[in-house]
Amino acid sequence: MNNIKIGVLALQGAIREHTQHIEALGATGVAVKWPRDLSEVAGLIIPGGESTTIGKLMVEYGFTEAIRDFNAAGKPIYGTCAGMILLAKKITEGNQPLLSLMNIEARRNAFGRQRESFEADLDIKDIGLFKAIFIRAPWIETVGESVETMAEFGNIKVMARQGSLLASAFHPELTGDLRVHKYFLDMIKEA
Ligand code: GLN
Repeated sequence: MNNIKIGVLALQGAIREHTQHIEALGATGVAVKWPRDLSEVAGLIIPGGESTTIGKLMVEYGFTEAIRDFNAAGKPIYGTCAGMILLAKKITEGNQPLLSLMNIEARRNAFGRQRESFEADLDIKDIGLFKAIFIRAPWIETVGESVETMAEFGNIKVMARQGSLLASAFHPELTGDLRVHKYFLDMIKEA
């Protein structure tokens, strides 16, 4: 278990916090700066940040095809916030580079100005109560076939899984709670 390496896409955004959570679970966190780095890791986290920026850099660095191949090989991917947007098949508005791997539609900055950032207690499937931090967060507007909703805020979908793909609108790396990362590590062990 100590040898499991999890990559964190290191183009922009909250990279270190994810790596610290991974290390706290006894796995190894690897900053993925180039597509070739993907060959070293068993799973990949796409962090929060600015999805337009990360998306542009992904195209520029040749990550789009490399990450799609990584997914096709059955290796788990977890997207948080901007990472969730990048995983989505489509977004409700605008046009920006996406990986389009997961059968969800995401709405960017969905909570509006009043709710730029906030905390909420969620009841996450298979994990339980979790204090979630949202920052200019998207939400999941619609889920398609074979997608399982894992958490809702009111009746808004904020976390989902489709096979080896996991997405959350919130930032579990910003809390001391390791359980969402543990859940992802378990997905990698099962893959
Ligand atoms: N608002 C950002 C976007 O649309 C996401 C914010 C985040 O990742 N914390 O890309």
